[in-house]
Amino acid sequence: MAEGCTFHVPSDHLLVVGLGVSGLAIARHLKRHGIAFVMADSREQPAGAVQFRREFGEVPLHCGDLALIDMSAAREVVISPGVNPQQAVFEDVRERLIGELTLFKRALPHNAKVIAITGSNAKSTVTTLVGDIARCCGVDAGVGGNLGTPALTLLEQGHDLYVLELSSFQLEMVEQLAPEVACFLNLSEDHLDRHGDMAGYQAAKQRIFEGAQCAVVNRDDSVTWPQVTLPTHTFGIGAPAADQWGIAVHNGESWLCQGDQPWLAASALRVAGIHNVANVLAALAISVAMGWPREAVLTAVQRFNGLPHRVEVMGEHAGVRYINDSKGTNVGASLAAIEGIAATLTGRIIWLGGGVGKGADFSPLAPALAAHAKAALLFGRDAALLEAALGHAVACQRFATMEEALARGAELAQAGDAVLLSPACASLDQFANYEARGDAFRAWFERQGEPSAHAVKE
Ligand code: ADP
Repeated sequence: MAEGCTFHVPSDHLLVVGLGVSGLAIARHLKRHGIAFVMADSREQPAGAVQFRREFGEVPLHCGDLALIDMSAAREVVISPGVNPQQAVFEDVRERLIGELTLFKRALPHNAKVIAITGSNAKSTVTTLVGDIARCCGVDAGVGGNLGTPALTLLEQGHDLYVLELSSFQLEMVEQLAPEVACFLNLSEDHLDRHGDMAGYQAAKQRIFEGAQCAVVNRDDSVTWPQVTLPTHTFGIGAPAADQWGIAVHNGESWLCQGDQPWLAASALRVAGIHNVANVLAALAISVAMGWPREAVLTAVQRFNGLPHRVEVMGEHAGVRYINDSKGTNVGASLAAIEGIAATLTGRIIWLGGGVGKGADFSPLAPALAAHAKAALLFGRDAALLEAALGHAVACQRFATMEEALARGAELAQAGDAVLLSPACASLDQFANYEARGDAFRAWFERQGEPSAHAVKE
């Protein structure tokens, strides 16, 4: 028995660590399957504790220092995606560490299929769109994972197909998920605090291909390509080779194409920006790999409005477009948003950025801002770091709050310009989350007067 421990995992029990939404889903799954477990969270008062007590009154719960847990008798230790498996407290149980996806895979019926989608950015957009397409094709699909409903909760609902958004934190803890289609969208710097370096981050994401039937990857981002031999479909924003997906000119217009086969005009999409065309191409590649019927696929794609806070066009005032990309929380996302939107404007971008930079290198934004932005209006904790990295490329001004930056943006903008919030940073210094930041942007916009009648997404 480990010395100094105050909480002992009984033999043959599982220990679940992390009492958030995923942790609760894991607990419910184990209870349903009659698997004995105990629960722990490193926080003294985790938000989920009250709910846990209500549902699992009899199950022991440890809150606080994980080093006080004697894990030696635990059959397995299941960690939520938010818990770092590299922590020293897991040193002696490393062989028995699993994640929620391992439980998912063990309980998945043999005839059920999985589409797994990962990447640094665009996961939620592509996952939601693929779910919409599946349903439009008459497939009974459960959609979630890292987005919305946890995978284990979807499993309980019982679907024919699971369309899962997966983060690197989830993927690093699963072996042989063996999806029907494994899609790796893109890779840019993020979460290095957890994965150590880009190689570790990439390796975690590459696990998506283990046992997969086929891969859908980004032609323009070679780190997304599988390092194992798999039938592979690529998408990219250039003209595609035979059978691959891309953009080509057809009847004088840009079309989304598979090889030389035109599928639909880019102008028929409701989502804004060239990066969203890439997202739709990825969804088309997945749909065709699944063998879904073309007409229904096209219907769903043309109905898709995108998700809130992701390059969401709020509307226009005085010919200036206001775009909420509060979910642009890393450099790669904001770069895609700036370049994607610039291509659709007659004027220039007034860029709003700032918040918690997570130690990222902001300099990759400099060329895009130099080419497309009139000004960079910076706010939040890391505004000074942004100015230091970007001041040579674009006129920067700093503000205490996003609202002050917005007010200045409205003064600077002229008809044809866009005021784009795509902060390249997390929001937690000034907001509860990225949604609250986007809601504040929307509220500010709505206070400026009635949006003009034609204020719609492109
Ligand atoms: P995720 O779930 O991976 O965070 P989302 O679909 O929520 O992805 O989009 C997050 C942000 O990523 C968007 O707000 C936008 O700034 C950026 N983004 C969207 N599509 C792309 C893309 N194809 N490449 C790079 N960044 C993108």
